[in-house]
Amino acid sequence: MSQIHNFSAGPSILPKEAIEASIEGLRNFKNTGLSVVEISHRSKQWEETMEEMRQLIKSLLHIPNNYDVIFLGGGASHQFTMIPQNLLPVNGKAAYLKTGTWAANATKEAKFWGNVQIVGDSEDKNYNYIPKGYEIPSDAAYFHITTNNTIFGTEMHHIPDSPIPIVADMSSDIFSCPIDIEKYGLIYAGAQKNMGPAGVTVLIIRNDMLGKAGREIPTMMDYRTHIKGESMYNTPPVYPIYLSYLTLKWLEGIGGVPAIQKINQEKGHVLYSEIDRNPLFYGTTEVEDRSLMNVVFRGIDEKIETEFLKLAESRLISGLKGHRSVGGFRASTYNALPLESVKFLVETMQEFEKSYQG
Ligand SMILES: *Cc1c(COP(=O)(O)O)cnc(C)c1O
Repeated sequence: MSQIHNFSAGPSILPKEAIEASIEGLRNFKNTGLSVVEISHRSKQWEETMEEMRQLIKSLLHIPNNYDVIFLGGGASHQFTMIPQNLLPVNGKAAYLKTGTWAANATKEAKFWGNVQIVGDSEDKNYNYIPKGYEIPSDAAYFHITTNNTIFGTEMHHIPDSPIPIVADMSSDIFSCPIDIEKYGLIYAGAQKNMGPAGVTVLIIRNDMLGKAGREIPTMMDYRTHIKGESMYNTPPVYPIYLSYLTLKWLEGIGGVPAIQKINQEKGHVLYSEIDRNPLFYGTTEVEDRSLMNVVFRGIDEKIETEFLKLAESRLISGLKGHRSVGGFRASTYNALPLESVKFLVETMQEFEKSYQG
């Protein structure tokens, strides 16, 4: 099989080694003779894996001891409602930065639980920048941000100092660069962009955040249930956790977060440079807010876009078509995407330019 260059935005590329190892785990998990999806989640072998996964995340991101790491089934979207249910006091207020579709969805759900103050909003320019110079109200319970806007291709390269705890949706850039954990009260990320397959969401919660909302929370919706139960109050999504674990072992093996950050920066540099140089393409976002995970760009007219997409697909470049709300192209350059794939895309853009003129 020829190599496919997978630029898909999510679900997205995972390290081949991790997928291979997970197939072995499906056949015979830790030499138990059972599949990882057949063995009891209360078995010693699985409980060990859960504990290693927790420790691995703590070590990769340098998470201090006053934070808990938990794994919940369901996507990041489910957290849009669990977060205000747990953190937003009855009659209280939360502040949200509206930087894209996912941030807007988070805002919408928070309104079911309390007052929401939008402190910054870039919808006026189809979310092609990160708002700056806004004020974070000190009387809100938390300040919600989306560190990387997967659809529009912007990323917060500077996290503001905040008088209130920051709650961050890091679904599409967690593990791509170091995180100053102490700036956050809560971090969450759905797995299927940069960590594993769909089906699990990881949460990192500072332990003074909970128990302040002043409302009754049903058991399954209460973060404290899952912290106390070490993410095994009920059956966890075993396979998504396992493949995420193997993906993070791969990351640890290549040098961890600082090492992958260098590679991600190089990939971004190579691709954005070509977008800026090539007269047939242009980037759609403010340069200072460009995402290193989702590179969004367009061709200068529709015919160029149609023809380039055809050429790219014929060369086994997959997942390049842009989201319908922006059009054009989106090249997702998550951790597992090799630099070679980015270079191949750039060569294809250069050859397209030559053939188009000649
Ligand atoms: C994909 C994505 C989501 C939604 O994730 P689901 O797991 O599909 O609910 C939320 N936030 C961001 C930033 C995303 O990229």
